[in-house]
Amino acid sequence: MLELIPISLPKVNMDTLSIANEREIINEDGELERQCAKCEEWWPADPEFFHRNPRHPRGLHIYCKACMSEARRKSYNRKKARLVLNGAPDYRPLKKGGNQ
Ligand SMILES: [Zn+2]
Repeated sequence: MLELIPISLPKVNMDTLSIANEREIINEDGELERQCAKCEEWWPADPEFFHRNPRHPRGLHIYCKACMSEARRKSYNRKKARLVLNGAPDYRPLKKGGNQ
């Protein structure tokens, strides 16, 4: 009789290998590439393509620079749209240290 014995192979799970959506590979040239968590494009894992983020293990942000600037622009547009919706198109920020 054959008995099936559970073999405890070290399970290689790509999900557990990647740290919080951070996916990285070594390309043919031996360079580390990093996948942007937003546009899913592969870029060199380099501060030239990713903003620095000391809180991340690699020291780089999970979004590429292009996505970061786009996200900033979108959030700015959202802010502007909200102000218009609130009926404050001539909204002016309060002067710091001004009177009243
Ligand atoms: Zn991106």
